[in-house]
Amino acid sequence: MIYLDNASTTMPYPDVVQAAEQLMRTEYFNPSALYREASNVRRKLEDARTQLAGRLQVRPNEIVFTSGATESNNWALRQGFKNKKGNIVVSEGEHPSVYETAVSMKNYADVRFVGLTAEGYIDAQKLMQSVDENTALVSIMHVSNETGAVNDIKRLNSLVKSVAPKAVFHSDGVQAFGKIPVSVDDLGVDLYSISAHKIGGLKGCGALVKRISLAPLLTGGGQESGLRSGTENTIATVAFGIAATHSAVAQNGVFSYMRDMFGRLDGVRINTPEKNSGSILSVSVSGIKSEILQHMLSDEGILIGLGSACSSKKSGNRVLSAMGLSSGWVAGNIRLSFSPATTLEECKYAMSSIVRNIEKLRGNICG
Ligand code: PMP
Repeated sequence: MIYLDNASTTMPYPDVVQAAEQLMRTEYFNPSALYREASNVRRKLEDARTQLAGRLQVRPNEIVFTSGATESNNWALRQGFKNKKGNIVVSEGEHPSVYETAVSMKNYADVRFVGLTAEGYIDAQKLMQSVDENTALVSIMHVSNETGAVNDIKRLNSLVKSVAPKAVFHSDGVQAFGKIPVSVDDLGVDLYSISAHKIGGLKGCGALVKRISLAPLLTGGGQESGLRSGTENTIATVAFGIAATHSAVAQNGVFSYMRDMFGRLDGVRINTPEKNSGSILSVSVSGIKSEILQHMLSDEGILIGLGSACSSKKSGNRVLSAMGLSSGWVAGNIRLSFSPATTLEECKYAMSSIVRNIEKLRGNICG
């Protein structure tokens, strides 16, 4: 099998699986208990927090573990819009966990959506047309899960703060963390979301980096400094810390090989722009339906993505449409995403199979 859908999820690292198994089999204690066995689990949990904080250049007490980035994003938006006054500014390129949350807040808030440039970046000019002194919350993703486009969050944050100094700036960093250098401190944002299963950790685990005070998400036993009660997911959280010791950067050359090969094909549009994470390649192939190509490739053991897996149940593609792509380009969109384990040999094999199947599909359509 050749797995080229790492933006959707990744294979857990062997040491992640090993640590998780140990926690399940022999270290299943509640970290809040007072005996030594439990304290050892608590220490592992705090080590994970310290590990992540180090990678993100924040303090450990600024990391709150969650059930994943969907939860982090929901929390950031709903509680980041603190006193429910002012407006919210969100980009049209956001993952559904931000976008749909913003849509759902429309019934009590002035929510403004900012478009993308044709390259897929957040349009800074349009952003500043939407932001005013009453802007309370801005949410703009660091790296697009559709195209891999990297937004200049540091610049956008300071532009926003120059007009709305009290605005809370949140960034969804799921596709950035581990793949491009991320210093939350340097970016200057107030809230930043990350997810474990995109970097070789386990599903159902993430974190919200918070540098401002935020109302608790869940009240109860007071875990996570009283911000998110509930017995900790020790298994996935400790595993997250271990996953973060690895680099999630794709091997040198894998991305550019695939981009160059697609660039040589007729009737192909590369949707991933110049400033990208090096982990995601979005292309559109004319004259085909991408679902059919995906199916043919999976029959050959090659797994590719179609835009965001999370939005695959919805027709069309909001993000590519926001970039101005015609429905034909949207219909023929595929997304290839790489991990450090992806090899050039795998890419060469996958590419020849992709080319062969595209020809087959186009041949069928032409008669
Ligand atoms: N944001 C982005 C940019 C993502 O790619 C994803 C995962 N598809 C999420 C948020 C949601 O993360 P999780 O699966 O941890 O809820």
